[in-house]
Amino acid sequence: MADNIRRRPREHQALILVDVQNDFCEGGSLAVAGGAEVARRISAHVLGHGDEYATIVATADWHDDPGGHFAEHPDFVDSWPPHCRIGSNGALFHPAAEPAFEHVEAIFRKGSHAAAYSGFEGFTTVGDKRIALADWLRDRAIEQVEIAGIATDHCVRATALDAADEGFETTVLLDMTAGVARQSTNAALAAMREAGILLVGELHDVTSPQGHPPG
Ligand SMILES: [Zn+2]
Repeated sequence: MADNIRRRPREHQALILVDVQNDFCEGGSLAVAGGAEVARRISAHVLGHGDEYATIVATADWHDDPGGHFAEHPDFVDSWPPHCRIGSNGALFHPAAEPAFEHVEAIFRKGSHAAAYSGFEGFTTVGDKRIALADWLRDRAIEQVEIAGIATDHCVRATALDAADEGFETTVLLDMTAGVARQSTNAALAAMREAGILLVGELHDVTSPQGHPPG
């Protein structure tokens, strides 16, 4: 896929893996159809192309008490079943993504006390310092980012829009994303295109039209 992208100079390019966590994959509390396949594809991509990136980072949904982000009767738009609680199995990265995560240099955790869809709301900890994703990337002279992960219509969308907003030349690798619902995924693709984000690959579309994630 995306051979034209692969041949570009990579020394200023980062790969951002968004929320490839158990709760967003089949069997998780907020399972997105195709999540485990996304984890497998990301591992294959990193094994084949990982050394072409200046750096690979990951984001993680990391909830303690995120208020109205969790609901007993979620609307699957603004409120969700509890997921990715700190310390839970659901918050761990999916086992199929393990080969990729051996190459991940930093993890940016987000959402401990409020909803946080974008990885750019997350922080990594270095010593006693918290560093935000945009600052971390700029410190490494990153100018372009490629984004993959879960879900296309929520955290991938928000991370990509923020990346573009922060001035990074942004590409989303669609065949390494999975969406919660078809309608919101289509809206996300339109919003990302509108923001000048390059969308490459075929969407791995196993979403339901209504927006009710399976599981
Ligand atoms: Zn969340």
